Amino acid sequence: ETIPEPRRYHVVFDDQRLDPDVQKVIRRLTRHRHEAYLVGGCVRDLLLDRRPKDFDVATSARPEEVRDLFRNSRIIGRRFRLVHVLFGGGKVIEVATFRRNPKEDGDEASELLIRNDNVFGAAHEDALRRDFRINALFYDLEARQVLDWVGGMEDLRRQVVHTIGGPETRFREDPIRILRALKFAGRLGFGITPDVYDAIVFCRDVLALAARPRLSEEILRLMRGGQARRTIYLAWETGVLDILLPEVSALIYDDRGDDGPGQRMWRLLDFADRRTAEGRPLDDTVLWTLLLLEPMKEACDGARDRAGAVADFLEPLIERLAISRRYADGMRRIVAVLPRLTSGRAGRFARTEIFQASVEVAAADLAARGLSTEPVDRFLAPPPSRRPRYEGHFGR
Ligand code: ATP
Ligand code: MG
Repeated sequence: ETIPEPRRYHVVFDDQRLDPDVQKVIRRLTRHRHEAYLVGGCVRDLLLDRRPKDFDVATSARPEEVRDLFRNSRIIGRRFRLVHVLFGGGKVIEVATFRRNPKEDGDEASELLIRNDNVFGAAHEDALRRDFRINALFYDLEARQVLDWVGGMEDLRRQVVHTIGGPETRFREDPIRILRALKFAGRLGFGITPDVYDAIVFCRDVLALAARPRLSEEILRLMRGGQARRTIYLAWETGVLDILLPEVSALIYDDRGDDGPGQRMWRLLDFADRRTAEGRPLDDTVLWTLLLLEPMKEACDGARDRAGAVADFLEPLIERLAISRRYADGMRRIVAVLPRLTSGRAGRFARTEIFQASVEVAAADLAARGLSTEPVDRFLAPPPSRRPRYEGHFGR
């Protein structure tokens, strides 16, 4: 069997942009005659001149071999075993052994959904099993080369998100990839190629088969990262939002005119994006609340017991998406105190733990309604002086 040759691109990254600990990890692995590369999101982000969230390593070494090379390391995961190498300050470098798509040797009898990810393979197979071409680039530190088996460099240049292989197959294998496509397109400001777009529209129903905790986590990720509005808009446009959050998409469909709940919803997302751009991203409870605020307000319209009305509204959502209790409780309490906050009557709530989150939501709500945030301004934390973490798309 011949091993496919990758395209190689000579790329030199500024040393300051490469985490020193990940360099140590890779050098130690290669000194012990293992292959080891930077992979995935960090290579993509480095090439786009964005700051990577974390640095992941892929290697030919088996998990046990990796663990034995690093004193401060441990094997984690069952479905997908990998090694965490621990450094000071709680930093973790993930080192994963090359693996291949277990479906490739066609055990056609089993259904398409991937359940076992632990079939080890070679570097090129590890590239091919990944979700999108922009996410499948490997970087060889020593040679200063990007290794590209899938056309990822071309996609980065064209600014498009495309699956590796047929989009329908890849979405049916793992429905979460539908949300990941929206996330990357939204966050990076990339296009989605027409075939992938059509497959999202066509396959969106399989999202109902995805593991529910993964769904709620991925929805949060659509909200984080500074492009919530654009990303949720894409989810709406493709009909994905109809599957995940029909309560929200109904509101958008019903909205005529300039100042309906749908328009306010987009402005709430703008608020979240602005805060991220300012370097003070909102916490997850607030993000959930903003996404669901307009339908929640509708649900408690005229209700005596606002918290109770919100709880009733949230019940089917919690069932569908496994939204954690912590977020649901937070939303209930925030929406219950909202009218008092937005009318400047903070009163006794000033000391409850949910207060800060409620203030953020109140500020967003006022802004979305075109009103001054004056009633809550004195409770808002001042903007930090440090550099913002996200600076719009394409960083710098
Ligand atoms: P982020 O900056 O959000 O962390 P990322 O690309 O690093 O983006 P991760 O979720 O951290 O995304 O995953 C790391 C890599 O693992 C991806 O770049 C991709 O190559 C691969 N991957 C993640 N999820 C999947 C999936 N569902 N199917 C196939 N490959 C995946
Ligand atoms: Mg990552």
